[in-house]
Amino acid sequence: MVFLKLPPGPSFKLKAMPAALIELRRELVQCELCPRLRGWSLQVAHERRRAFAGETYWGLPVPAFGDQAARLLLVGLAPAAHGANRTGRMFTGDRSGDFLYAALYRAGFANRPQSRNRRDGLRLLDARITAAVHCAPPDNHPLPEEFERCRRWLRRELELLPRLRAVLTLGALGHRQFLLAARELGWIERPADFPFAHAARYRLPHGRWLLASYHPSQQNTFTGRLTPAMLDAVLGQARAALAAPSGREPESNAEDTG
Ligand code: SF4
Repeated sequence: MVFLKLPPGPSFKLKAMPAALIELRRELVQCELCPRLRGWSLQVAHERRRAFAGETYWGLPVPAFGDQAARLLLVGLAPAAHGANRTGRMFTGDRSGDFLYAALYRAGFANRPQSRNRRDGLRLLDARITAAVHCAPPDNHPLPEEFERCRRWLRRELELLPRLRAVLTLGALGHRQFLLAARELGWIERPADFPFAHAARYRLPHGRWLLASYHPSQQNTFTGRLTPAMLDAVLGQARAALAAPSGREPESNAEDTG
């Protein structure tokens, strides 16, 4: 058994957060609903990669990160074993995060382009990042029942963001889980009406928008399937959606593939 301390780093700002979000985080980091994922996260945290042998891995479920009053919510897949599972912050400490946060910075959604650790001073501006699954899965592949169990946290997160205007899903798997959560919340009826495609854009009820991007995984970014310009264009769509009066079509040069 590996015992890991739970240090609330400066990026958490617990006192400034609404009580409901603090409670959500408190419950989430103690979640043990998926024995396979909890075991794997702790095993990786115990064994560590040689490059990080001097670090104490987080090893717990990784909570959402960012502005608690965000209008934009990004939904990824799951923490990387030696990325967020090590640092304790979504998309922090790996190449995917390097790619994503640089783009968020260029789009004005982050105060700096790098994300190194929970104490690096990074702040998200009007944006928040979560994932479909909050514990690192072996081979980056959660099982269907693990997606199912973890969706409770996504539903709660969605309910606790009163200013939410746009959701940006990163990859088809995160997209699917958001749609299922949206159906469970009564936001939509048929997930099939919102198929995943890079740069897709859909209108949701209550003046909200759904946007989609390929996931910034190394597999996608190293092969050029997702380029910085492509992600910039999607974040431009998000910016336009936030700027549009509620219910109006946002002005954007990006193609609407939805
Ligand atoms: S993946 Fe989600 S539901 Fe499963 S143990 Fe982790 S936090 Fe809990």
